[in-house]
Amino acid sequence: MKDNMLIYCSDTEASLRTSEALIPTLRSAGITISPSLTDDVDLIVCIGGGGTFLEAIHHFDFPEVPFIGINTGHLGFFQEMMPDMLDDFITNYREEKYSLQPMHTVQALVTSGGRTDEYVGLNEVIICSASTHSVHLNISIGGSFIERFSGDGVLIATPAGSTAYNYSLGGSIVDPRLRLLQVTPMAPMNTTAYRSFTSSIVLPPDLSIGIHPDGKGSKGKIRISVDGFEYLYDELESVDVRLSEKVINLLRFESYDFWSKVKSKFL
Ligand code: NAP
Repeated sequence: MKDNMLIYCSDTEASLRTSEALIPTLRSAGITISPSLTDDVDLIVCIGGGGTFLEAIHHFDFPEVPFIGINTGHLGFFQEMMPDMLDDFITNYREEKYSLQPMHTVQALVTSGGRTDEYVGLNEVIICSASTHSVHLNISIGGSFIERFSGDGVLIATPAGSTAYNYSLGGSIVDPRLRLLQVTPMAPMNTTAYRSFTSSIVLPPDLSIGIHPDGKGSKGKIRISVDGFEYLYDELESVDVRLSEKVINLLRFESYDFWSKVKSKFL
């Protein structure tokens, strides 16, 4: 019997109000609320918007336990339900009228000063200038040199992240049932001085993307951003980006349909 949940809640008034309503509803349905992420937690309930959800998965270091989101934020693309659906949630959960949607993640190995840092993201990894200067990045795919990119930077999106920053940059929306990475240029320069791809590149799951800053012409620090978490590097040597083995599972009700959600949130 699945009867132990953990609540992760943003600190907005709407989220706290929702949490206050949720706790007695869960308890009266015989569900216990765990204060921390232990092995017997069956579900993490995340109350907030997309930002809170991203914060939660990083906070719990990409756990195997599934999440369900209650949207009290703005867009709420990851969030499955609104605060007024708590009773339906308990009924559907108890009757196992749901499925788990796996969301693939992206891994970046960042080497600088002889040290390698590993980052995992659900939405994307961005390699860009920390200032308004352009960056020049030698990009290879599957070990073969492809282009010397010049512009603001490159964003490497998962299907889950394709509807986020990637979409604002003109990247494609990708159905999360596909396992792939999308490399989207950020303000690429495409002149007789600099030649860069101006559209996204879509890669199969087994290919990695290698990025080596071209010292000649690049000024200042490079910023690595992972789901909005930022890291600055003075002497970046390389970034190796590939699909990660880690998967986030989202609990979805029977009525969930990815493309209906896209339509309702974007059109
Ligand atoms: P944020 O303010 O927390 O998020 C910016 C917006 O992106 C919010 O409306 C958020 O939804 C939405 N969002 C997040 N993940 C999404 C997804 N997978 N699909 C559709 N929308 C999504 O920004 P942040 O803390 O700096 O970074 C968090 C994420 O925001 C990043 O991973 C990045 O993809 C995105 N972002 C987008 C832009 C842009 O589009 N120009 C710029 C910076 C960052 P909620 O309203 O539900 O929170």
